[in-house]
Amino acid sequence: MKIDLTGRVAVVTGASRGIGRAIAATLAAAGAAVIVNYRENAAAAEATVAAIGAAGGQALAVQADVSQAEAADRLIKSALDSLGRLDILVNNAGITRDTLIMRMKDADFDDVINTNLRGAFLCTRAALRPMGRQRSGRIINLASVIGLIGNAGQANYAAAKAGMIGFTRATAREMASRNITVNAVAPGFIETEMTHSLGEGTRKTILDTIPLGRFGRPEEVAGLVCFLASDAAAYITGQTFTIDGGMVMT
Ligand code: NAP
Repeated sequence: MKIDLTGRVAVVTGASRGIGRAIAATLAAAGAAVIVNYRENAAAAEATVAAIGAAGGQALAVQADVSQAEAADRLIKSALDSLGRLDILVNNAGITRDTLIMRMKDADFDDVINTNLRGAFLCTRAALRPMGRQRSGRIINLASVIGLIGNAGQANYAAAKAGMIGFTRATAREMASRNITVNAVAPGFIETEMTHSLGEGTRKTILDTIPLGRFGRPEEVAGLVCFLASDAAAYITGQTFTIDGGMVMT
């Protein structure tokens, strides 16, 4: 099956590196024009745009902190203003502030909720009007297996990611009549800067819980997101797909 997104416009939040960068590149390779959002790393975002351009795709970098309403509105407007429409929104931007609950500062909790969950709400709210007018749209939210099974030291992140799954289901129900599908992808451990800081001991402990015996690659998550953004996934909504080497089986 060949996925063709020619003529579609996508916004990928947090696409300067890691999973977001791979998602932007994969959507562009399938033919979509992509807004590459980032918060502060302009050089990395421009490198993503350059790589997409070199591969024959179309992309544009747009700075916006998705946890701020005006910035999220401006991000979505940038797709409409510069590329004329919006078909696909991937809420990928995310951060971690790991520590045990007893030591967790208010800001550790608030920052993670604000970027990971509130950011998805703000971008989704801004995207629903143009998608509703078009009577079509695809929203894909990056959750995590941690939102399903929890993890000591990640109460803030687990709460945000579990919230993302509930948010996905509610949005899917609310927008189904407009032909907008909303799904979540819940990766396990993927090789990115987010997981590079894990110590060798922690990596080994985690690897022992993964039947496929390795961390995932950003491109593997991007392939699933690209499928969900395509016409082939038209009858799928409100679902959460784990992609974790078999770590969580339900
Ligand atoms: P990453 O390598 O740390 O990259 C994070 C991206 O988010 C960067 O592009 C960063 O932009 C952007 N970002 C952070 N805060 C932002 C904000 N307020 N507004 C806009 N952009 C912001 O992360 P990753 O590992 O690729 O993870 C991507 C998503 O997958 C996250 O939602 C994460 O929770 C989820 N996930 C990751 C894993 C994993 O194992 N890596 C597993 C499960 C789920 P700057 O470069 O400008 O800072």
